[in-house]
Amino acid sequence: MRIVLADIKGGDGFISKDTVAGGYGSRLRPFSKVTGVVASLKSRFHDLPSVHLAYVAALAERAGHEVMGSRGELVDRADVALVLSSLVDFRRETAWARAMRERGTKVGFIGLASQKLPHLFEADADFIVDGEPEAAIMRLVAGEPLTGMAASPQIDDLDSLPFPQWQPLIGARRRFRVPFAGRPVGGALPVLASRSCPEFCTYCPHRIQTKYRARSVRNILEELTYLEDTRGPIHVVFRDPLFSQERDRVLELCDGIRSRGLHHTFECETRLDRLDDELLTIMHRAGLRAMSFGVESQAPTTLKKVGRRPIPEAHQRAILARCRELGIVTAAFYVLGFGEDTWDSINATIDYSIELGSTVAQYKILTPYPGTPLFKRMETTLTETDWEKYDGFTPTFTHERLTHDELRLLLGSAYTRFYMRPSFLANYLRVSAPAVRSVVQKLDARVERRHARRECVRVAGSTA
Ligand code: SF4
Repeated sequence: MRIVLADIKGGDGFISKDTVAGGYGSRLRPFSKVTGVVASLKSRFHDLPSVHLAYVAALAERAGHEVMGSRGELVDRADVALVLSSLVDFRRETAWARAMRERGTKVGFIGLASQKLPHLFEADADFIVDGEPEAAIMRLVAGEPLTGMAASPQIDDLDSLPFPQWQPLIGARRRFRVPFAGRPVGGALPVLASRSCPEFCTYCPHRIQTKYRARSVRNILEELTYLEDTRGPIHVVFRDPLFSQERDRVLELCDGIRSRGLHHTFECETRLDRLDDELLTIMHRAGLRAMSFGVESQAPTTLKKVGRRPIPEAHQRAILARCRELGIVTAAFYVLGFGEDTWDSINATIDYSIELGSTVAQYKILTPYPGTPLFKRMETTLTETDWEKYDGFTPTFTHERLTHDELRLLLGSAYTRFYMRPSFLANYLRVSAPAVRSVVQKLDARVERRHARRECVRVAGSTA
């Protein structure tokens, strides 16, 4: 068979799909100068190819089929097309599927969006994969035609899967490093060392498709070795939702990276309470150069209400300080608009994000994603009927204390206050000289007063 794997390039704004928001994806449409710069930088550094499609490519090639990728180009004489679905860009994905079916190609969708909201995709699909794709795709490439909702139970033994194949999806990419950036432009590839998450945050779509499973350290090291043999040293992005869940496993992995003499750099996403000084130091020696983690809210009570275990501030600050010493780029995630949030509590979260001093920060508006416990709880409060707007940056529900305009204003204020500060630049450039830091902090205070004055004017405007 001739099989096309489609990861349709997003249109408006910066779109991430695949492993972002569990597969629902996110779309940052710039709404201020600062978010315009953030979106433009993300499109250069954060446009990762789909690891799930790379697994599908490996299964199809192993079965002897011809495989090719598409970012939206139509392909002639294809037998089957598999489209990576998302919530934030489903119209472009279904339009592409329609055009391919008109050419006589059978089209199937994979991913959480088409699984949880099949009604958005089914008119343009011959089948929708119901679960992680591999089990159904193995049947497809063995010759079984798939139809309707094709059940695809999770594969427990992740070591049994072949390594993702990148050649059909990205070919040979040019890659270059930018000073101080954690990730190079081009050339970064995602690896999944584990899938799903054992935590219970009720708003999180990462944990709703399958249960947490981890690959063996030996199997991950084999993949890293294979990548170095076939592509040379690259920057690996571990896309596990909680990479350092098992400390001993990470230590063994780092040990293996060093004893095999692998030269990749890597980054991961994790929880700060799954890190300590010693572990960070060992991970850094093995190639860790960037790390992302959720802080979400400054208020422990707010976090507890959504099933998230709060992490003591002292621990968060200590880990961030150690990352700064080691030169690890840190990206902290925050969510604005939890049920208990008020104007003041959100400002306290923004204040905290600035004080914590991560290299970069990402703020999103609480989004009730279909299939999560939070979605069930908030279903009656939803105001947004266009599913593409469930993009992480658009208010989609009635908040008890904050209007949509206020939430957007606070979101814009968070980005401005974080990024338009001299100390953001100092952190980014890893300036640590105490004399410079003290000047920078004084400048921060002046800039902050200016932001506060402007915010007062905007708030007065929005409530006039
Ligand atoms: S820790 Fe919570 S938010 Fe993070 S991936 Fe796990 S369940 Fe999701």
